[in-house]
Amino acid sequence: MKMDLEKLKNILGEENVKSDPADLYIYGSDASVHESPASVVVRPKTIEEIQQIMRYANDELIPVIPRGSASSTSGHTVPIDGGIVMDLKGMNRILEIRPEDIFCKVEPGVIDDDLNRALKPYGFFWPPAPASSRIATIGGEIGANASGLRSVKYGATRDSVLGMKVVMANGDLITLGSNTRVATAGYQIERIIVGSEGTLGIVVEATLKIIPLPKLRCLGISNFNSVEEAGKAVTDIISSGASPSMLELMDNIGITAVNKTLNLGLPDVAAIILFEADGKVKEAIDYEMKAIKNLCEKNSGFGIKMSYDAKERTRIYTGRKKLFASLSRYKEGIICTDLADDMAVPNSKIAETAHEIHKIAERNNVIMSVYGHCGSGVLHTKIMFDVTNKKKWDNASKAASELYDFIHSVGGTTSGEHGIALSKAPFWKKEKADSLNVMRSIKKALDPNNILNPRKLQDAPDNWVTATKLRYRVR
Ligand SMILES: Cc1cc2nc3c(=O)[nH]c(=O)nc-3n(C[C@H](O)[C@H](O)[C@H](O)COP(=O)(O)OP(=O)(O)OC[C@H]3O[C@@H](n4cnc5c(N)ncnc54)[C@H](O)[C@@H]3O)c2cc1C
Repeated sequence: MKMDLEKLKNILGEENVKSDPADLYIYGSDASVHESPASVVVRPKTIEEIQQIMRYANDELIPVIPRGSASSTSGHTVPIDGGIVMDLKGMNRILEIRPEDIFCKVEPGVIDDDLNRALKPYGFFWPPAPASSRIATIGGEIGANASGLRSVKYGATRDSVLGMKVVMANGDLITLGSNTRVATAGYQIERIIVGSEGTLGIVVEATLKIIPLPKLRCLGISNFNSVEEAGKAVTDIISSGASPSMLELMDNIGITAVNKTLNLGLPDVAAIILFEADGKVKEAIDYEMKAIKNLCEKNSGFGIKMSYDAKERTRIYTGRKKLFASLSRYKEGIICTDLADDMAVPNSKIAETAHEIHKIAERNNVIMSVYGHCGSGVLHTKIMFDVTNKKKWDNASKAASELYDFIHSVGGTTSGEHGIALSKAPFWKKEKADSLNVMRSIKKALDPNNILNPRKLQDAPDNWVTATKLRYRVR
């Protein structure tokens, strides 16, 4: 690969082209287990600069990896074959907020929480709410089709993106979607870009549907003596037609980890469910909360508390939002990995899946937590083990493989939230075997020279352990 640093510096200015070894190392990993150094890091500030970089990369067949905050968990931003890592965090302007049209326009580097702070005075919010909202960029949320705590009511990123501007692999700038709430004609290419993990184009502007902030929110918490009972309660709540704005499950591993890390004093029980209802009218919210409470009790939920108090809600949300980051503190000597982490299953399979996750962990001598946005069918797990131990890696890989076999056997999907990239590709490719060639045709049509985040998703290697380096030194 021929890299002309002078050319890049002419386009971007010297200060926005980084090639010293420390930068290349830092930009060679994300929140996954993988690492592979970048060849150069660029920090564009304008659409025109991105177009020029893409024209150059396309002519010289150099991989380009778009990157927001690199909080992805499966190797999405790891430059597996080197190349140009394009850091888009500098394009962080909120271009327009139009409450009367119920949308806003932003550059890709805007951080989720910053957007929500800006929308608040207008009485609106941007709904995907990943637990990483403090760092996740809108470009990264679009790339990964992120969703989160409130997706059970408001959907994932894809449900709220109206349109976008995209720089294609050859440098062309195209406008997709519309400013309207409905637009039926033609192929909805913007929907394919969402979740494409930086493999089809670079999102340089996004038009986002925003939602009026509810006047009231009430949060409930119910304890359970087993994850199965908690899982059955989730199934009953969703199939009853209730409309929670949040429905989360956390097992004792998660509870212990956040209590240890954040000293939150969550109840030390086998599992808890957090449930929330929001809206304008207190009586309507009370009705919803009571219906959910009854279904928890029907499934042996106990110690149920409900509160409109903002301080109390913040305490509980903090526990849930910081759960992932807290898990590595669960026990000395273990690290929390994302080898299998965000499966989704049909609503009726939550309890069975939660039970199976713990069984698989036991069988393979690793620790696996169960938690997640269960209201939308997403069950998170993290596989936790001593990552310096080769034997433990074998155990963890076997656990991931058994888990995905189970998920597919109950009609679930490999990733409900974080995406595929490298770590989950072998399992996802199995699941999608009959449509992989269609995806490859789309990739070839939009990026014929295969320069955009190559060897990810459908093109990822089946054995990523040998195709990339691990971030850990394994003995
Ligand atoms: C502690 C923690 C908690 C998390 N919780 C959640 C959660 O609740 N829900 C959830 O969905 N995810 C979660 N994640 C995963 C991750 O944070 C989200 O997917 C997030 O949206 C990624 O944003 P980012 O800016 O870090 O994107 P990056 O990781 O930088 O990029 C994500 C993908 O998008 C592509 N991309 C980035 N910018 C662009 C662009 N402008 N154009 C085209 N492609 C682009 C990248 O190439 C990559 O494939 C969590 C991660 C961590 C570490």
